[in-house]
Amino acid sequence: LAEPLSELVQAISQLQVGAAAVARIQQVDRLPIEPAEQRRGASTRPAQPGPAAIRFDRVWFGYQETDPAVHRNLSFQVPAGSTAAFVGPSGAGKSTIFALLERFFEPNSGKIEVGGRAIDDWKLRRLRAMISYVEQDAPVLSGSLLDNLLLADQSASQEQVDDAVRRARLTSLVERLPAGLDTMVGHRGTRLSGGERQRVAIARAFLRRPRILLMDEATANLDAINERFLIEAIDNLRETTTVLTIAHRLSTVVAADQIIVVNNGTVDAAGTHQDLLASSELYRTLAQTQLLTAESLAGSGPQQTKQ
Ligand code: ADP
Ligand code: MG
Repeated sequence: LAEPLSELVQAISQLQVGAAAVARIQQVDRLPIEPAEQRRGASTRPAQPGPAAIRFDRVWFGYQETDPAVHRNLSFQVPAGSTAAFVGPSGAGKSTIFALLERFFEPNSGKIEVGGRAIDDWKLRRLRAMISYVEQDAPVLSGSLLDNLLLADQSASQEQVDDAVRRARLTSLVERLPAGLDTMVGHRGTRLSGGERQRVAIARAFLRRPRILLMDEATANLDAINERFLIEAIDNLRETTTVLTIAHRLSTVVAADQIIVVNNGTVDAAGTHQDLLASSELYRTLAQTQLLTAESLAGSGPQQTKQ
């Protein structure tokens, strides 16, 4: 399976960051990470398999010292193997939570724990290796569809690839493509729609079996049927993966074990959909406006799938 990998694809894969994270490399430059990385006691033990719990404890964070803090006393807990959906107004600090989890930045104060351990106890490489990140505009590289999937794990077996394709609901796409998985995609081959590119990225995440999966508006391009499939697929990941989504559609939000409402950099409320309808004014408003609007927009008219 590894043979058809182009050199480019291999080179990018060696970065061990996943194509989606390439776009964030600029941010890495800004992080004074080395001192913590070299601290005595940074773990060199192999990562424990299985999903990792996540805890933010009174986290304060600002991108610039002069700016008002983005996170103000932000606390939440996500048990290992559960799913959490973050909702909140634009600019509330949701995506920044993911950036802190990948340690592109350090909090000014407070504690972040991953897998029961302080985040800076992890070797940075190991921390990032256990996290997959899927964003809305998932890139697809020129090469075969298989190349694109193997970015996640060059040693994956045919069976593992087939499984990831099935779980990411890519089967019908693969069947439709002239040469199946060997079809060239990207700018010199078959153009994939936004929703298809996203599912390719999600299939990559399944292949990596990350202990943590971060999805930033990752289902925004999926039509309603594919999104439902994906919610089921995420549910199948529980044994290996804790899933955090920043979701804009009510169906994704309602399916999560826990919904965390973020406002002004702090947790406004957390609980199930029913809990929050009763307890959070902001959630009620979001559910009625933002989430439902996205839902009805997504349900209206044909998606940009070129089938
Ligand atoms: P959300 O995902 O909830 O919309 P973000 O976490 O993206 O919110 O952003 C929170 C705040 O931090 C916003 O005011 C945004 O402009 C600011 N911000 C986000 N990323 C950066 C960055 N890399 N540098 C400086 N400010 C940023
Ligand atoms: Mg965001």
